[in-house]
Amino acid sequence: MGLIVAEELARGVRKATRGFWRRRAASHPHGLVLMYHRIAEPSADPWELAVSPGNFAAQLDVLRHSGAVRLLSEMTEALGRPSAPRRQIAVTFDDGYRDNLASALPVLEAAGIEATVFVSSGFTGSESRFWWDTLVQIFLETPHLPRRMDISFGGRRCTWSLGQSPGRFRRRRLLRSVWKELVRLDPAEIDSAVQSLADWAGVSRSANPEDRAMNHDELRHLARSGQIEIGGHTLTHAALTLVPPAVATREIADGRAALRDWTGQKVESFAYPFGMHDTAAAGLVRDAGFKRSCTVTPGIATSATDPFRIPRLHVKNWPADEFEQQILSFVGR
Ligand SMILES: [Zn+2]
Repeated sequence: MGLIVAEELARGVRKATRGFWRRRAASHPHGLVLMYHRIAEPSADPWELAVSPGNFAAQLDVLRHSGAVRLLSEMTEALGRPSAPRRQIAVTFDDGYRDNLASALPVLEAAGIEATVFVSSGFTGSESRFWWDTLVQIFLETPHLPRRMDISFGGRRCTWSLGQSPGRFRRRRLLRSVWKELVRLDPAEIDSAVQSLADWAGVSRSANPEDRAMNHDELRHLARSGQIEIGGHTLTHAALTLVPPAVATREIADGRAALRDWTGQKVESFAYPFGMHDTAAAGLVRDAGFKRSCTVTPGIATSATDPFRIPRLHVKNWPADEFEQQILSFVGR
């Protein structure tokens, strides 16, 4: 999730137009990796991370007629072979929301489509919302907020004046500012700051079951469905380019070890939290034993693509026809 998703998308689209990718797709065997987060209908979704169950079923129907839909791991391995299919598509989910099991899996099973689910293992079994969802709850869903906010972010005191009744634009700007303060902190500091914010706004951090991460049983159930590859997404969704290298190393390795222990799967695919990556982060992911990693930069993969910089298309709550147009704008007919 994250604002960075939107920023990277915008930057990526500017840099490499969809026409460039379409020309490339016309002459190279290629893969298109789709990025989902939630199959749900939350009341506020500022980062457009949720797709409704109805639109998701309609999108999978489109996919079945669009190319060879296969697991990310199979797709990337096939791209390196001379016999690679002309077009492959892979479905991925980030974060490990419970709705991936409750709402996405039944639709994937009915469509006979496999998917990769990237799980931030430190949230597994948590009764609280993911911290970015608590921010959305505080800033976009709480009708009355105190007029002044004075919070310590990792020892740095920040004061904001909200005015009497901040409108939606002001609330979104605040959400963005606070998110930027939090994303660079270490996990304990994030937790403490989010608790302070929740106390300040008078909201509970405990999540409805459908809004939280999977617990251990649910994750095992998903992994054993035969339909899902589990991938790494660090322990606490750490911004790998912002935290110290020692923290990044531990986040990547411990996250992978937990998922391997819980699911019995190999855990060879990774997705960069918030899409944040650089050469150092890619090296750490490779050194931890992963074979591939996904970004949030839009594009297609070919045999020339760096396996630690696989682009993805951020799928939004599009109906079938718009979804098909979005796919075709990258890969052509
Ligand atoms: Zn994520």
